[in-house]
Amino acid sequence: MSISFKDRVAIVTGAGGGLGKEYALELARRGAKVVVNDLGGSRDGTGTSDAAAEVVAEIEAMGGEAMANGASVTEFSQMEEMVAKAKEKWGGVHVLINNAGVLRDKSFAKMSPEDFEFVVRVHLLGSAYATKACWDTFRDQAYGRILMTSSSTGLFGNFGQANYGAAKLGLAGLTKTLHLEGAKYNIRCNSLSPVAGTRMTQDIFPEQAFELFGPENVVPAALFLVSEDSPTNAIVGAGAGGFHSAWVMMNDAVWLKEEDRTVEGFAANWDKISEQSNLIAPQSGAEQSGAILKAMQQVLGAD
Ligand code: NAD
Repeated sequence: MSISFKDRVAIVTGAGGGLGKEYALELARRGAKVVVNDLGGSRDGTGTSDAAAEVVAEIEAMGGEAMANGASVTEFSQMEEMVAKAKEKWGGVHVLINNAGVLRDKSFAKMSPEDFEFVVRVHLLGSAYATKACWDTFRDQAYGRILMTSSSTGLFGNFGQANYGAAKLGLAGLTKTLHLEGAKYNIRCNSLSPVAGTRMTQDIFPEQAFELFGPENVVPAALFLVSEDSPTNAIVGAGAGGFHSAWVMMNDAVWLKEEDRTVEGFAANWDKISEQSNLIAPQSGAEQSGAILKAMQQVLGAD
């Protein structure tokens, strides 16, 4: 089975280097027309460069079609313009990989409100804005594939990355609602948690690990997650050559009788309430209320 992106138009944000560049190149190799978006700044989001144009030149040199876009994902009007230009040139947009990102790591005690806001703005709002700019087109076409870039920091936490973690779990949350709202229009939305040797991890990974975790190893997961037969609402991890899924889970609800609904009653039941042997991965928020009602029925039915 070969997976083609022929006649598809794909936007990859932050595709001037690192992971985004690998996605853009492979999409182009597989026939997609690619908008290579990148502001071209440094790792902390300062400055600009021609990074996007350089990737476009590489795609064109291998016979592909691409368009450079130097807009910032933090500007909604610029995202709208980017989508309008792609539609004008190629007649539609079918795939969006929200990949642009910055780092401003510090312990929470030392992190300024500005650095918190900036990182959330680029990752969370930037992805929301680029997606919003594509959304009506995806609905009108009854086709759209969206990938959000989450992170192990968002899913599981990491010292010194409170701003980044908040934004990255926000993206998994955004995925969960967009997958529900998009289902009727054949819009699918997934999250990827990559691990890759790029400038973002350059001073974190030991040298050997840096090479082992080359960004090209993440490409199979990213491209499958935006392909025609992609799943939806998945959270996938990828790095080096290892792939896995992750879930947001809950356990069976414990129903407390009225006389036990006190702080002490809750404390007495904490072991059962935090039990991990009976986890489920709800597919929508409504399943949480459903699980609570199920626990109520079990207790009241038994009385
Ligand atoms: P990278 O720094 O090489 O790539 C990020 C790109 O985003 C850069 O080219 C940068 O210029 C661009 N960018 C930054 N701000 C932008 C803006 N406002 N508008 C447009 N483009 C902008 O790093 P990378 O490792 O390739 O990261 C890609 C994505 O993967 C990021 O979202 C990152 O948080 C995520 N991620 C990476 C790792 C990893 O191990 N490398 C782990 C988890 C998540």
